[in-house]
Amino acid sequence: MSRVLAVGAAVVGLATVGGCVAVPGGGAIPVAATTAASTTTERRTVSPLEEPTGTVTAPTPTATPPTVTVTSIPPPSPTTTPAPKPTTTKATPKPTATPKPTPKPAPKPTATPKPPSTAPQTPVTGSTVSGCGNPNPGKVLLTFDDGGPKAGAILAVLDRYNIKARWFPTGQWANANGAMIQRLIADGQMLGNHSYSHPQMLASLGRTELARQVDQGYHPSKVFRFPYGASDATSRSIVTSRGYSICGWSIDTLDWRGNSADTITQIVTSQARPGAVVLMHLSFQTDVDALPRIIANLRGRGLI
Ligand SMILES: [Zn+2]
Repeated sequence: MSRVLAVGAAVVGLATVGGCVAVPGGGAIPVAATTAASTTTERRTVSPLEEPTGTVTAPTPTATPPTVTVTSIPPPSPTTTPAPKPTTTKATPKPTATPKPTPKPAPKPTATPKPPSTAPQTPVTGSTVSGCGNPNPGKVLLTFDDGGPKAGAILAVLDRYNIKARWFPTGQWANANGAMIQRLIADGQMLGNHSYSHPQMLASLGRTELARQVDQGYHPSKVFRFPYGASDATSRSIVTSRGYSICGWSIDTLDWRGNSADTITQIVTSQARPGAVVLMHLSFQTDVDALPRIIANLRGRGLI
């Protein structure tokens, strides 16, 4: 047990190097980021609604540096995968529009038609978890970020293997894709807050806007993942003061960089270990193609 927990702590500690957001049109805005973990230490009860298997112990916190360096790299060409070339500029990639994979309007939920959001607002009272809230901390947790046209295909693969992953849609995407959110919840998938519109959440954004990004994000459980993995002391305090735990990742598929399904499979299977957290997105067919192979490999090793 302690060994598992130690690994879990390492996962969050390693948390965030690199990240991205899918943008409409299939492109991606890659941003490499480095943060240190800032997590809480108390034991938290996992919500029975979202995570059925009891409690998860928070990872051991590490020292929290006062600032975080965020670097950005230019969007990749679709055919090459150049090494990221960090610059010192602090880019603020701001998705210009909510990814809307389908032109047809999202069907309204039958229960509470409360425009403009079509996503069900699950009560969050008492729904606290630690880290990423992995209900099986000895296994690998798959996570899917942002929003995009592959959500349904990804869910179909997960259902085929009876796997519960954690999804981090932006508030904007969740609001516009209520039917998909309903399906995820009905399926028993876990959800987390990934901000409202996916900015880099640093103090320069201002406390009011940082708070808005958290409060208007989609938050059916108290797990938060920073866009791009970028945070600083100010934004982390705003998130944690609202009772959220912060979820990073330990395996970055770099799907946004145009990695092939083969490469994505190789990255995940070679780095997988108990407690690992895999970062994928909802926009890429390569992830859909890689998932069955990844799952088969990990299942054969007892890791998922
Ligand atoms: Zn994201």
